[in-house]
Amino acid sequence: MKVLVVNCGSSSLKYQLIETTTSAVLAKGLVERIGLGEAEYSFTHGERPKVKVGIQSKNHTEALREVLGKLVSEPYGVLSSLEEIEAIGHRVVHGGESFYHSALITDEVIKAIEANGELAPLHNPPNLQGILACREVLPNKKQVAVFDTAFHQSMPEYSSMYALPYEYYEKYKIRRYGFHGTSHRYVAMKTAEFLGKPLENLHLITCHLGNGSSITAIAGGKSRDTSMGFTPLEGVVMGTRSGSLDPAVLLYIMEKENLTPRHMSDLLNKKSGILGLSGISHDMREIHDAVEKGHSRAKLTLEVLVHSVRKYIGAYMVELGRVDAVVFTAGIGENDWVVREMCMARMENWGFVLDKEKNRTTRGTLAEISTFSSPSKILVVPTNEELMIALETQWVLEEKE
Ligand code: AMP
Repeated sequence: MKVLVVNCGSSSLKYQLIETTTSAVLAKGLVERIGLGEAEYSFTHGERPKVKVGIQSKNHTEALREVLGKLVSEPYGVLSSLEEIEAIGHRVVHGGESFYHSALITDEVIKAIEANGELAPLHNPPNLQGILACREVLPNKKQVAVFDTAFHQSMPEYSSMYALPYEYYEKYKIRRYGFHGTSHRYVAMKTAEFLGKPLENLHLITCHLGNGSSITAIAGGKSRDTSMGFTPLEGVVMGTRSGSLDPAVLLYIMEKENLTPRHMSDLLNKKSGILGLSGISHDMREIHDAVEKGHSRAKLTLEVLVHSVRKYIGAYMVELGRVDAVVFTAGIGENDWVVREMCMARMENWGFVLDKEKNRTTRGTLAEISTFSSPSKILVVPTNEELMIALETQWVLEEKE
């Protein structure tokens, strides 16, 4: 099935046209600066080299028309007509408590996405704009919403609730939702395939370590706990996000520095994490370069990051009771052998024996990095959220979910 996967931000539209039977990406592109003067459109269609052009698009609908035009017309076309697109799959960040699975988009689903907008004010409204643009331009196509949060709706209440006065859950739905669900689900499925075992029989800890990072405990293909919470700020140390800290720290800094909630949010989301602690960069590659040059705070940053990841792995080992595999994915998880080696150090007694050589040479490919005789496995599994969205779209239409 040919599925157009769409991911809309406030001023961007990212897409991939995927053939699900072969997992082939037929075309992909990104329109940026929508509604901000001349928009920038870069795309790779078929085997042709990447193209960058300036376009006029005042809104997501105009951007979509431009994209669809490029998909069917010479010299960049990869389709003979738009009829070939069989369905559209949308990334939607927050499904709140309304969605346990991906959903065929109807008027009711649109209302629910709108209602959940309060929980993700920066993401759900532009996601919805993308859906409405597709409805307008391609009214006959079936559309599916794939939520970042849906996979974690299987978390038991004891994982999802905060110990706050219960009225805040009742009034504002404050609880843990978790994010990156599409990625965690995808790598769990790939892991089962790789190990040749049914996902239903596996206990996994999936570590999505990228610019944003989260760790998930998965039992029998279902999320049992995850490190991100009410927002993607909770959990491990990330590129520019602090991850978990004593909530009293926020109050203290706000009082001392006379900061508004908005400034504090900026500080925690954009100026903390690897960037804030190191004072160098949010990018792990630059942290490693600095460590090599003897920069002591870069070394500290690496150690704090790894420590935060190990705490979750340890907690989830206890929660799951038995762990068949720890899986690393996303930018850092797939490429950074140093972080992986540090995360899995001194875990032999828990059944994880890293093959240091295999770990060092594995970059961006699916591979086992534990020794042959390691009782539990350590794997690198590249994530592919777009493919997962395309597959989920197909499954919803085939009612396989
Ligand atoms: P993602 O959000 O999954 O795209 O991950 C982006 C992050 O992955 C970057 O900010 C880098 O910190 C990290 N990354 C990507 N490539 C490498 C690499 N070769 N070594 C270390 N870190 C990497």
